[in-house]
Amino acid sequence: MIRTRKLFWMAGVIAMAAMAVGVAAAVARLKDEYKSGIVWPEPNVVTPGKMDNEPPSDAIVLFDGKELSKWNKGENWEIKDGVATSRKSDITTKDSFGDCQLHIEFATPEKVSGSGQGRGNSGVYMMTKYEIQILDSYNNPTYFDGQCASIYKQTPPMVNACRKPGEWQSYDIVFNVPKFAEDGKVLKPAYATVIQNGILVQNHYELIGGTFYDQPAHYEKHAEKMPILLQFHGNPVKFRNIWIREIKQLEGKKPQ
Ligand code: MG
Repeated sequence: MIRTRKLFWMAGVIAMAAMAVGVAAAVARLKDEYKSGIVWPEPNVVTPGKMDNEPPSDAIVLFDGKELSKWNKGENWEIKDGVATSRKSDITTKDSFGDCQLHIEFATPEKVSGSGQGRGNSGVYMMTKYEIQILDSYNNPTYFDGQCASIYKQTPPMVNACRKPGEWQSYDIVFNVPKFAEDGKVLKPAYATVIQNGILVQNHYELIGGTFYDQPAHYEKHAEKMPILLQFHGNPVKFRNIWIREIKQLEGKKPQ
């Protein structure tokens, strides 16, 4: 009996010692924790869509399948069965945007005609100046820095992530606007990240200027916010589900 009691007593002592070690370790951890001291505003709550391609609660819907009223010259494009098809002219958003996240779905013509740059050509021009190429690049050779998801005549996509002609594809674009000094000097270049069909094809690419057909890329000073342009290049390219979110890095107050 005495022996059993002694065993219990010893077990108790061991348990308490273990607890003490645990508490000491936790205290040490607390003591060691680094805190930046920066006072951050609380990030806004944004409700995601049911699916990741649906507009979240803070998105501006630019095309919901019904009308292109948010676009200049939207009446030039055909709208049918929830789909807008390029026709007659480029279209540009009535609103202007700075740093943003843009979601857009497109399909090049199912019936293949033409070749190279003449096959399913359109394009998403950020700020009306920086083209992320849309092209049918499924078994359709062209110059690599002009194929689908290239930054036109600046860099090819890292991989060719194109679906077949007629199949729906998506771009999720993150664009950071360039900053200019008063005299037009570039203080900060533009950057583009593009995910095509869930695959990263442009990784925070530093643009060397506007994208041109007939001249080398170069910057021309422009406003901090500009419209988005969708190109009509002679081919009927389909679009649906277009939405945009303006984005802003949170700024914290650093300790004095
Ligand atoms: Mg184009």
